[in-house]
Formats: sequence, structure tokens, C-alpha cells
Amino acid sequence: MSIAVNLEQVRKQVDDLILQNNRESNSVRLLAVSKTKPIENIMAAYDAGQRQFGENYVQEVVDKCLALSDLNDIEWHFIGSIQSNKTRLVAQNVDWVHTLDREKIAVRLNEQRPENLPPLKVCIQVNISGELTKSGISLSDLPKLVEFVTALPHLELRGLMAIPAPQSSIQSQVEAYQPLLLAYNDLKMRYPNIDTLSIGMSGDMAAAIHSGSTMVRIGTAIFGSRQ
Ligand SMILES: *Cc1c(COP(=O)(O)O)cnc(C)c1O
Repeated sequence: MSIAVNLEQVRKQVDDLILQNNRESNSVRLLAVSKTKPIENIMAAYDAGQRQFGENYVQEVVDKCLALSDLNDIEWHFIGSIQSNKTRLVAQNVDWVHTLDREKIAVRLNEQRPENLPPLKVCIQVNISGELTKSGISLSDLPKLVEFVTALPHLELRGLMAIPAPQSSIQSQVEAYQPLLLAYNDLKMRYPNIDTLSIGMSGDMAAAIHSGSTMVRIGTAIFGSRQ
């Protein structure tokens, strides 16, 4: 199994879905989720032109950043849940955080973002599956957190992220995304920097691109299954 071949297939799937849904070309970015995978796999994807990588574990992303620091055009995206005692390492090492869901973490990331780096790009994680998952803020609490985050100078709010509960059909996946898309469009009208709707994984890419995704987070389809 070749990572370069997988990447090419995923890029083609993304392009086909963009066409099928009458979306603008290049309107969906591909985040390669490399969690638990070795450095060599990231290098293989890099050599095939991939620059944006997603990681879930703080120590792992720190180690990988360090090991690959020569490749300074890699963009690191943190997509795991953040404990408050790990915020400094996140603020110091990554370019993006997709999983911001509370004020306390926002305050810490803002304070701990080094002055010599650009503001940390963030997406607020929304819980669109009710009680099924713990992470993410509810849509009703979203406006308050948006207001809070946009006032912090070392954070740059770029959009919303969600991990929906598994659904049995594309139709029900699309339905689950609808309230999120409405909230995203509303946010976009009010804040000009908003350009990122981070939805879509290996199992629901079609529904996510149909539902307005601008960044799909793909692990398994690129790097193979994880243990
Ligand atoms: C692991 C993970 C992904 C990638 O999932 P695949 O099913 O392997 O594509 C995407 N987003 C998040 C938040 C993840 O934790």
C-alpha cells in the first residue's frame, strides 16, 4: 500500500465530490490525519505534496514537530481534546487548533501563544450529536464563545469543527450536518475571517462536502487503519 497512491485517490475523490456538488474548485482543503503513524509516513505524504497534517495527542505532535522542523512549510493542526495542563505545548507548537470548546482553554492558549508567532488559528468544536459525545459546545452556547474568542488578540477564529455520531446513511449524515451549516453561514456573515468548516472524515466525506465542508480530516484512507 502506497501513501502517495492513497493520497492521489483521496484528492481525486475530493475533486469529484466538489464537482458533483457544484462547489467552487479548490474550495475543500485536505488535512492528512497522521496520529499514531510514524515520521516516515508523514515524509511520504510530504514528498507527495501534502503540507497540512492533523494530530490528536500533544506529546506526539510536539515530537513530530521537532523531528520534522527542517520541513518548515508543514502546517500542524491539533484535532484532539485539550486538557488545560497541556495548553502551553499546543500554543507553542501548532498552527491550528480545531477543538476549542471552552473559555478557560481559550484564555490559556491566548496567553501562552509566543509573541514571535502569528495568532493561533482556531475552530470552535460544536457538539451536534447531543449527549453522545462529551466534546464540543452546544449550538445554543456558541454565540457567547464566539464573542469571547474573537476578542482575544493571539487567537484568530477561522470557523467551526464537528465530529458527528455515526449514521447509517449519507442522507442521515447530511441531515445531522444541517444545523451546523446554518450556524457556520451565520458566523461567516458576521466575521470576514471565517473560512473554515472542518467536517468530514474517511467515513463521511461525501456527506461533509455536500454539507459545505471546507476542510476534510482524513486519516485511514491515506495512512491505512490504526491499531
Ligand atoms: C482520527 C480523526 C480523524 C481521521 O479519521 P479517519 O476515520 O481515520 O479518517 C479526523 N478527525 C478527528 C478529530 C480524528 O480524531
